Amino acid sequence: MIRLGPAGVSGMGYEAGLNEIARLGLNALELSFTYGVRMPNEQAKEVGKQAKKLGIALSIHGPYYINLASLEKEKITASIKRILDSCERAHHMGAKYVVYHSGFFQKQDPKKVAEIIQEQTGFIMDKIKENGWKTTIAPELTGKPSQFGSIPELMELRKQTGCHITIDFAHQLARNQGKIDYEEIFTEIRSMNHIHAHFSGIVWGPKGERHHKITEKKDILPLAKEILKRKADITIINESPSPLKDSVKTKKVIDSLSS
Ligand SMILES: [Zn+2]
Repeated sequence: MIRLGPAGVSGMGYEAGLNEIARLGLNALELSFTYGVRMPNEQAKEVGKQAKKLGIALSIHGPYYINLASLEKEKITASIKRILDSCERAHHMGAKYVVYHSGFFQKQDPKKVAEIIQEQTGFIMDKIKENGWKTTIAPELTGKPSQFGSIPELMELRKQTGCHITIDFAHQLARNQGKIDYEEIFTEIRSMNHIHAHFSGIVWGPKGERHHKITEKKDILPLAKEILKRKADITIINESPSPLKDSVKTKKVIDSLSS
């Protein structure tokens, strides 16, 4: 199944936002807890109920201030708390994935950073299990080589800890200065039953991602073709400045190819 939807509800509030997503024929929403986890569990339950009624699959993007490989211990502890707080809300609203960027290399040995992140990710997975939360974490393919989160890094992390991962195709473009081979990526991640993905327009520089922009049809086409060719089971969250419109645009491209 192909699910499409926006990152966030563009300031509409969740009730109106979910109704609008359904009205537009979309069926996914990634809530953005960008600046902190402030939603009470009761509200999470309400959002979950409405989404379920409308057939909309939920995920959560955790706060930006996360670095599981920080040189400062208290920053790692705070990062873990932000992720676990997001997981608790995810459990209450029935969101399947909690997405976040794992951390930065800073000036540390990349192997060492991968080890630290693996250890902290394993710790978070254990906590989810201990609490009986029905959700999982899905660290994201990041947009800069200075951040942990290339596809091979994430696949290894998944293998070692059992976590899920998020494939942001726009970030892959930004990491590689506009080059992307969808066939190669889908082959690399073929062991995943469901692909949780992000895609939108993106502006990059020599150091990778700068910012998201409007998603263009010509950029959607090659991804859509590969998805249909593989009959991929995938959710694509759009993070452009106009994520609802761009999700509809993506849907139109996919529909036009499959009819
Ligand atoms: Zn993303």
